[in-house]
Amino acid sequence: MSDSPTPDRVLIVGAGPAGLTVASILAEAGVEALVLEAEADLPTNLRASTFHPPTLDMLDRFGATDKLIAQGLIAPTMQYRDRRTGKLAEFDFGELGDVTSRPFRLQCEQYKLNIALKEYIDGRSGVTIRFNAPVAGIAQGDDWVEAAMADGATARGRWLVGGDGAKSIVRSSLGIPFDGFTWPEAFLVVSTPFPFERNMDDLCWVNYFADPEEWFFLLRAPDFWRVMFPTDGAAAEADLFDPASVQARLNRVLPRTEPYPVAHTTLYRVHQRVATRYREGRAFIAGDAAHINNPLGGMGMNGGIHDAFNLGDKLAAVMTGKADPAILDAYEAERRPVALQYVNEITIRNKRNLETKDPAEQAAFRQMLAETAADPAKRRAFLLRASMLASLGRGV
Ligand SMILES: Cc1cc2nc3c(=O)[nH]c(=O)nc-3n(C[C@H](O)[C@H](O)[C@H](O)COP(=O)(O)OP(=O)(O)OC[C@H]3O[C@@H](n4cnc5c(N)ncnc54)[C@H](O)[C@@H]3O)c2cc1C
Repeated sequence: MSDSPTPDRVLIVGAGPAGLTVASILAEAGVEALVLEAEADLPTNLRASTFHPPTLDMLDRFGATDKLIAQGLIAPTMQYRDRRTGKLAEFDFGELGDVTSRPFRLQCEQYKLNIALKEYIDGRSGVTIRFNAPVAGIAQGDDWVEAAMADGATARGRWLVGGDGAKSIVRSSLGIPFDGFTWPEAFLVVSTPFPFERNMDDLCWVNYFADPEEWFFLLRAPDFWRVMFPTDGAAAEADLFDPASVQARLNRVLPRTEPYPVAHTTLYRVHQRVATRYREGRAFIAGDAAHINNPLGGMGMNGGIHDAFNLGDKLAAVMTGKADPAILDAYEAERRPVALQYVNEITIRNKRNLETKDPAEQAAFRQMLAETAADPAKRRAFLLRASMLASLGRGV
């Protein structure tokens, strides 16, 4: 079954943060859109837990920011620590109060954003979310683009946005290479309600621990602490999830006589990849479909939401006749360099700094942190980059 003649609407593949942000912008502008989501409902798995200040500023448009703040945890500061010696440096996002209305990181699970955006979309007319609609391929002509579902059904529109995640069918259907590499290690995330903050000196809610043997990060989400460890990528999952091995890792964070309560353990592969193009004709990719990176800095989901605002505003302007379709070319030109030169660069450097075994590199990292924390201009530049404000040209 094909919806023809072509409806004046935008097709969006995937109801994750990127797809639902584009859908919200189109709903706000009164533009018709159809979201095609493979799953039966919004995914609620534990993934991103950090919202950066510019993302919170942007999401205010849909009333989502206050909902997230009400369900999240404000983290005014972040720390780098040495696993053996303790705190190396602490940075206070409050120093950015002249650049952003939300000068903090918000620790909140990403599925709560998906729910808030769906509420916004459902409260307006024009945008429909179709669940159980896995897209299997894309076709396009001069003035139409079509998504074919796995069951043979099709849907047509004027433009299409692939917000369908790292394994994007839209990206592969368009023949766009996903250049980059996969890290050899796998990352193990352990969630525990154990109150580290009452048992470790001077901890804040966001802490990165450098160590040549086993670096890790310790982030507080509303319900749990999340500890992320690098693990042997060749090891069997059963060994990594083995309760005794998980307890041993947690005991290296902080030795205890009692076992740690463990709420979840998740293992995932980490990649650094950026699509060689963000557009092919009438179809675009955004979010993880366009770029993926390691989680050191919490930039994956945030960068995808920034893509979605850039592209969504342009599509809304074109669909309402306020702009020429030529402006759509600027999307890739504006957003791809951010993934390549900013997010990739920062997240790879963060990982190297925490894991390095070279004493000279360890000393250089510690000296850089001390100098940055002590010098107001360097500190501000660091905070602007860590908060992703600089990636949007704000405050620089
Ligand atoms: C453990 C972990 C921790 C993370 N922590 C952070 C963090 O702190 N900060 C941060 O910024 N990022 C973080 N990330 C990354 C973040 O989760 C992703 O960048 C984010 O989910 C990307 O959003 P998206 O909308 O592009 O894709 P997704 O969230 O993957 O959404 C894609 C959607 O498309 C649907 N879909 C897929 N294929 C199809 C199809 N063929 N047809 C229809 N629908 C389809 C999926 O069901 C899904 O709903 C983390 C990731 C992991 C795994």
